[in-house]
Amino acid sequence: MGGSIAGLFAARVLADRARQVVVLEPDEITAEAGTRAGVPQDQQVHTLLPAGHQWVERWIPGVTEEARERGASLCGPDKTVTALNGFPQASYEGGHHMLAIGRPLLEGLIRDRVTALPHVSLVRARATGLRYTDGATDGVRFVPTGADGHGTQEEETLAADFVVDAMGRSSRLSHWLEEDGYDQPRLERLEAPVNYATALFERPTTFEDLESAAVLQLFTPDHPSGGVSVAAANAIEGGQWLVMLMGYGDNRPGRTAEEFRAACAKLPGIFGEATSGALTRPVVAYHQADSRRRHFTGAGGLPARLVAVGDAVASFNPVYGQGMSSAALHASCLASYLAGGADLDTAATEFFRLQQVVVDAAWTVSAGGDAARLDAANGTEVPEEVRRQRWAMEQILEATLTDGDVSRAFQEVSYMLRHPAALADPDILKKAMAANEGTVTP
Ligand SMILES: Cc1cc2nc3c(=O)[nH]c(=O)nc-3n(C[C@H](O)[C@H](O)[C@H](O)COP(=O)(O)OP(=O)(O)OC[C@H]3O[C@@H](n4cnc5c(N)ncnc54)[C@H](O)[C@@H]3O)c2cc1C
Repeated sequence: MGGSIAGLFAARVLADRARQVVVLEPDEITAEAGTRAGVPQDQQVHTLLPAGHQWVERWIPGVTEEARERGASLCGPDKTVTALNGFPQASYEGGHHMLAIGRPLLEGLIRDRVTALPHVSLVRARATGLRYTDGATDGVRFVPTGADGHGTQEEETLAADFVVDAMGRSSRLSHWLEEDGYDQPRLERLEAPVNYATALFERPTTFEDLESAAVLQLFTPDHPSGGVSVAAANAIEGGQWLVMLMGYGDNRPGRTAEEFRAACAKLPGIFGEATSGALTRPVVAYHQADSRRRHFTGAGGLPARLVAVGDAVASFNPVYGQGMSSAALHASCLASYLAGGADLDTAATEFFRLQQVVVDAAWTVSAGGDAARLDAANGTEVPEEVRRQRWAMEQILEATLTDGDVSRAFQEVSYMLRHPAALADPDILKKAMAANEGTVTP
């Protein structure tokens, strides 16, 4: 249920095990169709982090090559700048690649390859509920969707041996479960009101060194960025710069081209350069109020033969760029679960246990930062232990500007290649403190 990134990854994994995989997706899907109702965020920046990129190439080889042929950028360390307040984070040996690409193109490339598998099909339909026998899911109720994307016909039922919820952050699965007498996974929300604005600009071909580039800038609250907390510039297909500005709470980055360029003028020079060409697509704004996760591991009475993946399980503050890579990691959990001789006649507790490790790690990174900001804004008294953890994180962040080892550890956690616990290593903290020359005391 759901034919976006998480649903397609799950379909790819299921295709190794099932005789037939059917993806139900209500939206009309045409290559590079642009905005579609079910994925309103698809006009915003979508960088595929190294963890997600690795999985894409493992399961769907050739996506990167075609993406590059179409003009997307595969950005290695020499073409990627991550910076704090305009100061680049320290470089280190080796390095990882991320894909700078428009979201509709990436989704289209993945979808074309997954649906080209002989036993995978995409059906235009909206799932409306589940069917069960003896405590196990054995079918999906759905309504075929017409050309206008709305249900036009009677409800039907598709028999299924195994069902995956990939319906995104607004998934109705919890309500269906409750209505049907099963346990509802607990919903956890963390206020993180983010305002995105993304625009596309012509990219002059004269700047050869900028032909493949991803730039991510973080700004601390005292930086004179005019309320922009994060800015990114990706060199993507169509000879374009995709530029994103993000502000928290009441800070809404430019909505018009003039406001957008004026905001970029206050940022490091690359943003002025990236927005100097003609607009190829106007500014598109997007607001998200919270991060949320559903705790399937704590839900005792779930039906068998049912799992959930992607944003339907956890949807984070998007500035961390974790969503698509998380979806890939959830699919890898599904592959392990099925390969490990899963008992399909009991609830998929083992799958949800594997997935929780991935979700906890991603949540630690994104919710940790958001909780600190919320507490600071509300003047909340925080326990000593949390205060010390945050102080250690500040040390590490500051040291990423000068120390290659600290920068590597931080990047690998940010890129979802290592568990956040790697940053709790006392050696890393010692290095960070030495690099910062003990200028901050706990
Ligand atoms: C502003 C913003 C920026 C982001 N930037 C990044 C980034 O840089 N990098 C990154 O990795 N991630 C990013 N993300 C996250 C990313 O968009 C998602 O994590 C990713 O799309 C995976 O989501 P999904 O497939 O689980 O759900 P979605 O992409 O939300 O898709 C849900 C799908 O379910 C379908 N559906 C809904 N209801 C039904 C139903 N009843 N029956 C059948 N189908 C249904 C929808 O039509 C849709 O196709 C960003 C998100 C936002 C909001």
